[in-house]
Amino acid sequence: MPLNIPGTLVPLHLLVAPRLVIPSMVVRDIRQLDFYELRRSGYRGAVFDKDNCLTTPHKDQLVPDLKDAWRECREAFGECNVLIVSNSAGTRLDPGELQAESVTYYLSAPVLRHKVFKPSYSCISSIRKYFTSLPTPIRDDELIIVGDRIFTDIVMANRMAHGPLSIWTSGVWQREATAMRWLEKGLMQGIQRYRSKEETSQGS
Ligand SMILES: [Mg+2]
Repeated sequence: MPLNIPGTLVPLHLLVAPRLVIPSMVVRDIRQLDFYELRRSGYRGAVFDKDNCLTTPHKDQLVPDLKDAWRECREAFGECNVLIVSNSAGTRLDPGELQAESVTYYLSAPVLRHKVFKPSYSCISSIRKYFTSLPTPIRDDELIIVGDRIFTDIVMANRMAHGPLSIWTSGVWQREATAMRWLEKGLMQGIQRYRSKEETSQGS
């Protein structure tokens, strides 16, 4: 896996904008999301990460346990309004876009083609271009962005000017022992400890 330059620069951006890493919602996986309710609340489109959110890493098929939730999501938002944005399928790591085609086949959803990895501003503008080109265009603040990586999926969502709902899926389907994952885990545990301390002091 080549170095994700936009991802590795995130800790620097954090020094000036620490809230970038805070998701709007945390769920174990997409089964905890009520897509019909989100649609009723005004969210009209959804962006999903692939690896460890919908599939196991390097696989193109949906994790079987997510079948019902995934169907409900596409039903609630409408098929074209659910977009998969991966840092593998649909990028320069996917020669001939074969994996993007395969993921679209298995997941029945379009895969964004983009040149620079999440959480780059270039990727954000490709997402925006996709949703504003739809017959009924969708704005940033009408999107939910779902993924298992803080430094790519959540930071990207929080970088979008008119905040989409950023949803972090904390359960992973296959563990990856990377330094970035370890750093994210430590960071989230720190934030949770800080929040529970704050709640305790407010309650006392
Ligand atoms: Mg992922």
